[in-house]
Amino acid sequence: MYDALTGRFTFACPTRGETRVTLSSFRHLERLPGAAHPAVFRVLFECGCGAEHDGLVTHDDLDWAPLGLDDGLFFNVMTATLDSVAAEFGDTAARRIEAGEWPWSFFCYPEERPRPVFPSSFFLLAPGDGSLGLAVKCPACQRTSVNLVSHHHIDLPWHNDPEVGVVEHVFAEDMAPTVEEFRAELYSARFDARRTGL
Ligand SMILES: [Zn+2]
Ligand SMILES: [Zn+2]
Repeated sequence: MYDALTGRFTFACPTRGETRVTLSSFRHLERLPGAAHPAVFRVLFECGCGAEHDGLVTHDDLDWAPLGLDDGLFFNVMTATLDSVAAEFGDTAARRIEAGEWPWSFFCYPEERPRPVFPSSFFLLAPGDGSLGLAVKCPACQRTSVNLVSHHHIDLPWHNDPEVGVVEHVFAEDMAPTVEEFRAELYSARFDARRTGL
């Protein structure tokens, strides 16, 4: 499903048969009820064919495969080469996390602080003017924040935008708008810059 060489997820496409997309091509993520080991997410993604399709991703593929912890290969996003095995990289990832570095982060508006996060807490993404609107359910306070981030912030683990846009709004706990509603809200929203240094 996730290819460490290209940093892309593979899905079925009704037009092309198969398609490979980056995490930032995801538009909606929803954890399916029931399946817990592993948890499975239904994903709506924007395909290279121009349409949007549904696909399924396991929790491991979503959160761990991009860190190279899945198939024994580590894709070094800095040098664009495969250069380690998972065991070594697992140590590296653990050390970086212990040192306070996180593969992904976002700014939690209700808590007024940056937080580490994994992609499984993302649930809506909408592309804007060269950047992406990202709705995250905070793993710490369970509330929703909307950040404006770069594609790299999403697609490259360990790359965190030094500053992100934050919508100054506390969203309802049961916020579950459609992707269309989210896009509309996003484009009418005001963003304020916040630093993400954890
Ligand atoms: Zn397609
Ligand atoms: Zn929070």
